[in-house]
Amino acid sequence: MSLIPMKEILQDAYLKKYAVGAFNTNNMEITQAIFNAAKEEKSPLIIMCSDTAIKYMGMDYLIAMIKAGAKESGIPAALHLDHGKSIDIALQCIKSGFTSVMIDGSHLDFKGNVEITKEVIKAARPARVTVEAELGKLGGIEDNVIVLGKDACLTDPQEAVKFVTDTDVDALAVAVGTSHGAYKFEGDAILDIERILTIRHAVNIPLVLHGASGVSEEVINKATMYGAHLPGAKGVPEESIKKAIENGITKINIDTDIRLFFTTAIREILFTKPDIFDPRKICGPAREAVKETVRVKMKLFGSSGKA
Ligand SMILES: [Zn+2]
Repeated sequence: MSLIPMKEILQDAYLKKYAVGAFNTNNMEITQAIFNAAKEEKSPLIIMCSDTAIKYMGMDYLIAMIKAGAKESGIPAALHLDHGKSIDIALQCIKSGFTSVMIDGSHLDFKGNVEITKEVIKAARPARVTVEAELGKLGGIEDNVIVLGKDACLTDPQEAVKFVTDTDVDALAVAVGTSHGAYKFEGDAILDIERILTIRHAVNIPLVLHGASGVSEEVINKATMYGAHLPGAKGVPEESIKKAIENGITKINIDTDIRLFFTTAIREILFTKPDIFDPRKICGPAREAVKETVRVKMKLFGSSGKA
């Protein structure tokens, strides 16, 4: 199957009230793991890259890999740009074959955010490329996105209505308490579920939850056992994810969990089998670990069996 616009994938999820995971890839093993999980779960798929991931892999390698994955899996999949920071990178992705782009103008003022989003939509619509924007500010660290806790602010429902009306954007990332990276909460993990519901009723387009990894104690303990140093790492509990979906979240971004499970599997092999130096015997199990992680997410989000 060839890549399809993200809007088509989100539309079904929006109507039937399940969520679709958007999974970040950075290399071949992770790409294969994500597509294999979607194939085994019969789940629609959003696979995404940040601009730094594109730089790391190279646009041509990346596009070729994703197209191979879509063809081999036969799964309806969208290729999405995560946190596009400029019109330039969004245009480059549209031209290269992405079927969805996020233009992240959340660092600008409201007017600037509307303008940059409209500019990208102008180029995206004729190419049947979906556009996601962000309103409000998530805290935390993700690739080139760094927002300190004091600068984070939750999405205002009234502003969201005005933003969607002014831009006609396809999907909206909202700040409702999550943050990027492996340190999501200093105290208790709390999501503003009420805010999700209010925005959902006010704007009538698919909402996106960023920074939604679980960062389970299990994976942190295992990583620590094999040499990692991640004190205080904390993610979003499964119960909160379920509530977020029930109350109107349609797309859920997962990056940190993929990184954690991939590198923990590698740590385990290197630590327990010091005689191994065949990269396939190190990266192969890491690929399996990511596949299982993605499958668990697809079940949790309710997208299994929907492709
Ligand atoms: Zn994000």
